[in-house]
Amino acid sequence: MNPLREDRQRSWDAASKEMSGCLRCHLSRSRNHVVIYRGSPTPKLLFLGEAPGAEEDRLGVPFVGRAGKTLSAAIARLGLTEDEYGITNVIMCRPEANVFDRKAATACTDWLRLKLHLLDPRFVVTLGDNALHALLPEVGRVTEVAGSLLSWEQRPLVPLLHPAATFRRKAYAERWQSDLSRLADWLGKSGRPWSS
Ligand code: SF4
Repeated sequence: MNPLREDRQRSWDAASKEMSGCLRCHLSRSRNHVVIYRGSPTPKLLFLGEAPGAEEDRLGVPFVGRAGKTLSAAIARLGLTEDEYGITNVIMCRPEANVFDRKAATACTDWLRLKLHLLDPRFVVTLGDNALHALLPEVGRVTEVAGSLLSWEQRPLVPLLHPAATFRRKAYAERWQSDLSRLADWLGKSGRPWSS
């Protein structure tokens, strides 16, 4: 491992330890686990979701429930290898009734910035309105921009609907598939944008 990576890994390990004991907001009282991250220690592409659900809270791992299965199928379709991607959420503790909690999101903002800094992905895919607006608050609703190529801090960013939305409406399930095709097509056409 090169010294820079070693240094970053040490910083990540220290940050993870601190995050796992975080008491910065009210969700610390009801959670079972702080759901930090899963994936490569050096992800080229980072999926950013909104918040953990019941299964994620139980296991301490993001996107392992029903929406996680949809995301896994998308990852397979994009042909991403294990060392190429990572998955995290804007909020790391489960909000009550699975409703996105803005107070908790504000309390979790510094952690999100730190995760993005340490993971340093070359490409970001946001999942759902709240994940998109955590990074690009000025853009429109995710339904207006999903599947398009945007930019965040000089990196390409593609917003997608949240995978859980695909269970709610047939139109969202169809949109998810068509946006995914555009993303797959774009990644394929550009070679991997991170290999240059
Ligand atoms: S949601 Fe974020 S800020 Fe709130 S307790 Fe959990 S880790 Fe800390």
